[in-house]
Amino acid sequence: MTFNEFGFDPRVLEGIESLGYETATPIQEQAIPAILEGRDIIGSAQTGTGKTAAFLLPIIHRIITTKHDEHIKALVIVPTRELAVQIDQQMQGMSYFTPVSSIPVYGGTDGATYSNEQKALTDGADVVICTPGRMLSHLNMGYVNISGLSYLILDEADRMLDMGFHDDIMKIITSLPEKRQNLLFSATMPAAIRQLARKILVNPVEINIAVSKPAEKVKQQAYMVYDAQKIPLVEHLLGLRKLRSILIFCSTKEKTKQLARDLKRLKLSADEIHSDIDQDARERVLNRFKSRDLNILVATDILSRGIDIDDIDLVINYDVPHDAEDYVHRVGRTARAEAEGEAVTLVNEKDQRRFAAIEELIEKEIEKPGIPAHLGPGPVYNPTHKNRTQRKWRPGRKKPGFRGKK
Ligand code: AMP
Repeated sequence: MTFNEFGFDPRVLEGIESLGYETATPIQEQAIPAILEGRDIIGSAQTGTGKTAAFLLPIIHRIITTKHDEHIKALVIVPTRELAVQIDQQMQGMSYFTPVSSIPVYGGTDGATYSNEQKALTDGADVVICTPGRMLSHLNMGYVNISGLSYLILDEADRMLDMGFHDDIMKIITSLPEKRQNLLFSATMPAAIRQLARKILVNPVEINIAVSKPAEKVKQQAYMVYDAQKIPLVEHLLGLRKLRSILIFCSTKEKTKQLARDLKRLKLSADEIHSDIDQDARERVLNRFKSRDLNILVATDILSRGIDIDDIDLVINYDVPHDAEDYVHRVGRTARAEAEGEAVTLVNEKDQRRFAAIEELIEKEIEKPGIPAHLGPGPVYNPTHKNRTQRKWRPGRKKPGFRGKK
């Protein structure tokens, strides 16, 4: 389906053309007509499916084809600053030929940023893309021009609940006009999301594009290691190939810091991103990584969802993610678009059972080559995980391996 078939204003079509989009992705095909009709939506879709354009394009169209006034028209609530910045960048591309304005509102410590945000929220930027905490602190000050709002979008809703934003989101919603269109997107649909949807959405159209499996093109491997073998193994893996872009995920910021320190000590081009690094520094590191000035980025899961970095050659899971679905998100950073990619996971003895849960989720046995002889023998893979009652699914959550199946 081409974008001409949606009946978009020519100025929106011009933006789409300048971005080089030719045909609509499945979520766009399903969501755009429903949003243009004014329906509420609950969409199950991961990053990489084109979901951002699926909600931004029809909203830009509706804003420019209805009466223009100085109110905030749309509020997009997202879990992280990075995602807010990324959506705002896409917004700028899509709305380039239209008069629609937007602002990301995500915090930052300096007063100038706060005053800019305050001004845009008072003057009524058309589209506000915000993280919950920061938006709430502006709302509490009383100057936010929100009474003419028509669209509320919750993106990565499951992530927001995981991060403890439920109450902030509900407080924001109480200050919005009751009559509005609501769009909720989430990679997964656990019971808590259904509950939230019931509170917010009115007779929503359901769209399900979830695929909980890494792309076939990703070559996945796992090494059984003792903790002391992890750094030498990473060093070995990096030495094997001349790769330009490597993303290494750690489960905690402490490990992220330690590993980045160790890699720098080895004179590798490495840096780190986690929540202790301030927003400006995070953006600088991310830009250096995107431009290939930096080859190795060590990050917590802050980066595993929502962030669109093309052409990553190798993803290394320095440890096994806590949630099996985070594995899919982490590995999804490689082999985007038409590229091929590689993902390597280091599994210590403690993590073996969790790793087996990932294999079950993706319904695939991941190749497990032995570690190189010079590192000594690693542990044997023997996940005594068959006792399913010990598995840690969140209460009420459907067993992830079977999500999305008919
Ligand atoms: P998202 O799932 O919104 O994070 O989008 C993933 C990537 O796909 C982004 O780089 C978008 O610019 C791109 N994209 C979105 N829609 C299309 C489309 N219809 N054709 C080509 N690329 C697209």
